[in-house]
Amino acid sequence: MILDFPTGFHSDARRAGWTVDETVRRADEALKRIKRRDILWVGPVQGGVHIKEVSRSAVEMGKRSFAIYALGSPTELMEAQRFDVLVDMIVAAKKGLPHSRPLHLFGAGHPAMFPFIVALGCDMFDSAAYALYARTGRYLTSDGTQELAQIEEFSCMCRICDSTTPEEMRHLDTSEREQLLSKHNLLACFSELRRIREAIRTGHLWDLLEHRAYANPAFKKFLAKIVQHSPFLEQFTPTVKPRGISHFGEASDYRPEMIRYSVRRSRVPIQRGRAVVLLPGRWRRPYHEDPRNLPIVSKLANRSNVSLCFYTIPFGPVPMELDETFPLAQTESFDSRDPIMYQQRAGQVAAWVKRLLPEQVFLVSEGEYGVTLGKELSGAVPRLKVLRIEAKGSKPDRTVSSIIQRIG
Ligand SMILES: [Zn+2]
Repeated sequence: MILDFPTGFHSDARRAGWTVDETVRRADEALKRIKRRDILWVGPVQGGVHIKEVSRSAVEMGKRSFAIYALGSPTELMEAQRFDVLVDMIVAAKKGLPHSRPLHLFGAGHPAMFPFIVALGCDMFDSAAYALYARTGRYLTSDGTQELAQIEEFSCMCRICDSTTPEEMRHLDTSEREQLLSKHNLLACFSELRRIREAIRTGHLWDLLEHRAYANPAFKKFLAKIVQHSPFLEQFTPTVKPRGISHFGEASDYRPEMIRYSVRRSRVPIQRGRAVVLLPGRWRRPYHEDPRNLPIVSKLANRSNVSLCFYTIPFGPVPMELDETFPLAQTESFDSRDPIMYQQRAGQVAAWVKRLLPEQVFLVSEGEYGVTLGKELSGAVPRLKVLRIEAKGSKPDRTVSSIIQRIG
């Protein structure tokens, strides 16, 4: 690493700007002198908590050829759990730096935050946290920190925790206790890294973030801030993964795949003035293959005056054109029967229907979602004829015949 000028936590914007310029000047100086090509030189990004300065620093350093870039994260920021600022800093750095080079984050040493910073695009990190925490009797886990003084049983099964009890550990002399505790802390970090790599391999990193968000309100805030950058993260999210995604309700609505789906939906070519047939999207996917939908879909799909759309819980409106795209058919979700969720989804479906300027709408209504959607549609477009057909108890063949009769 070159000799940089760290911005720190307490610098004002002007001072931060100066550290950025000074680090760039030193980088140029260093690059002139660097002879050895077998060393991976690190280009530090400065700016501290001043996001504009971080962006400027990232762009400037990115123009200079370093094998690795690094972002300094002031320890105070981590200690105060100001993850919101940290998220903005990392995103600003990632946006300015070449994406083909790894980004190192300084001072990130708590396993609980690893999945979040990896999701933001940090490839490497380092910290003395495992030892510093051990010194003050703190036991690291993927869900947070525990005090050795208060633990009755170790949940971890690493070689340290498996061979001693918290009570025994408390009675050791200070240096021995510190050593064992740091070993566990370090193993907890490595174990978390394995979990993250495996989650990336199986396409489940975001699920891990959502899961972790419930360990502590501070992590929930962390995720809420990351979600604000979902459109940016979406650009780097694989379009196809080995497995589908999980939709856990509202919290999953803004994950990058969901953002991508709503963009795709807005690009579906619109055929105005047709009849719109709305069918319930149930657990069976693709939605049109549901045995109660298939007889209706097979008779209507090729008619030029009909648009088919499924109303679903995870995705809101799913036009027939997108029914077989990833990750729709592979998404696991559940119906919480929450009236607010129905209302919100019904609003999305109604907005989609409105865009189509339909001649008439046939709603094959099912359950409370269907009822809510019926109400939402009747107010959505004046003079719009909405025909509600009760899905329950009616035969799909009879339903489709009555639709065909009406559209001619
Ligand atoms: Zn352990």
